[in-house]
Amino acid sequence: MFRMDTVQYLLPQDRIPRVWYNILPDLPKPLAPPLHPGTHKPLGPDDLAPLFPMSLIMQEVSSEREIEIPEEVRQIYAQWRPSPLFRARRLEKALDTPAHIYYKYEGVSPAGSHKLNTAVAQAYYNKKDGTKHLSTETGAGQWGSSLAMACSFFGLDCKVFMVRVSYDQKPYRRALMETFGACVTASPSIETESGRAILAQHPNSNGSLGIAISEAVEVAAKDPNTKYALGSVLNHVLLHQTVIGQEAIEQMALAGEEPDVIIGCTGGGSNFAGLVMPYIGLKIKGKCNARIVAVEPTACPSLTKGRFTYDFGDTGHLTPLVKMHTLGSTFMPPGIHAGGLRYHGMAPLVSHVLDLGLAEATTVQQLDAFAAGVQFAQAEGIVPAPEANHAVAGAIKEALVAKAEGKQRTILFNLSGHGHFDMQSYIAYQAGQLENYEYPAEEIAMALAGLPAFE
Ligand SMILES: *Cc1c(COP(=O)(O)O)cnc(C)c1O
Repeated sequence: MFRMDTVQYLLPQDRIPRVWYNILPDLPKPLAPPLHPGTHKPLGPDDLAPLFPMSLIMQEVSSEREIEIPEEVRQIYAQWRPSPLFRARRLEKALDTPAHIYYKYEGVSPAGSHKLNTAVAQAYYNKKDGTKHLSTETGAGQWGSSLAMACSFFGLDCKVFMVRVSYDQKPYRRALMETFGACVTASPSIETESGRAILAQHPNSNGSLGIAISEAVEVAAKDPNTKYALGSVLNHVLLHQTVIGQEAIEQMALAGEEPDVIIGCTGGGSNFAGLVMPYIGLKIKGKCNARIVAVEPTACPSLTKGRFTYDFGDTGHLTPLVKMHTLGSTFMPPGIHAGGLRYHGMAPLVSHVLDLGLAEATTVQQLDAFAAGVQFAQAEGIVPAPEANHAVAGAIKEALVAKAEGKQRTILFNLSGHGHFDMQSYIAYQAGQLENYEYPAEEIAMALAGLPAFE
């Protein structure tokens, strides 16, 4: 008799998590506090008030293990959550591996990635606290389109500084943001002091996330009705993403398996943290033995080659200092196509769990990432975002190790988004125009030499 293999583990709508999981109180060692950029003293909530609404600042520093998800936010989540967990059976066959490969698919959100999980929450709390306008930056455009959509749901104005190179390469992402009503400016721009300072030195600057963040922060700092929103890195952003891991834990139970290795790609660390923090919580309690692996591009290797120290989040040095793995705030990453992974720093929380030995990190070259993405697409029918290709490559590598060792192994990874707006990079890959970037040791050394000097 024909037996249908299960490939999809779906949860009903009422299993959308009711809380976000905050790992801070469970950490064996507390996170280093953010410092004031001028005084180098730990920041108080009021120091952040010009940039963020108080409800999000309180989440940023909260020691509550569970933070209730407002019903209005869950109601919007219901459009695509719980997101599906798939077993990649055809990929397993193609690789001829004894490993079982599972992926949590966040590309089902209307913005096409996990970023909407926090965009909706951030827009909700800003609206509640009286914000009228939000300003933000976007690299590849995924964060900008998520925030633009969330702002249109809650009736907020949205201003997006889009890294110049993406602005030129990805007109459809820009059009999507504008369709949701956002105002999009290429960064560096002449609209801010930070942008003008860069343009004075580098009139043809490609821009970077660090520069775009300076511009967006400056706009918020100068206008009492404007707040700033960030799509990754901060504790509250990672917190909002924990719906991913909580659902995955339930879905892996439906599948009757426990992951041996859990993988995510890391730009600022949010999709990785979203999947792995609930598992790391279990690990700390002795209830999970999985290896936790972050995969980053060789061209922008903050976790594997960066220094774990206090640095600025932006190039213009307007943000607080946070302790993180950093390549230096002036580091200009090579123009790889995974725009969302081109950030000089890493979430303090992800940096911290790595430092504690609760997670490990590895790198993937651009061409290997695309080769993995194409193999995945041909087997599973989903074209991953270039960022997510790094997680796919990490999972394939683990599956091949299992094959070489002749061992079953259960692999779970986060497929953070689809690549439908990134087909230009696939065109370039197919045409043989993409190249690997060696780890730019000299440029990183230069940028690290400019780290703020103090202890
Ligand atoms: C933004 C983005 C990333 C990288 O950001 P993280 O905060 O590290 O998750 C990865 N994948 C996709 C699809 C993204 O949009």
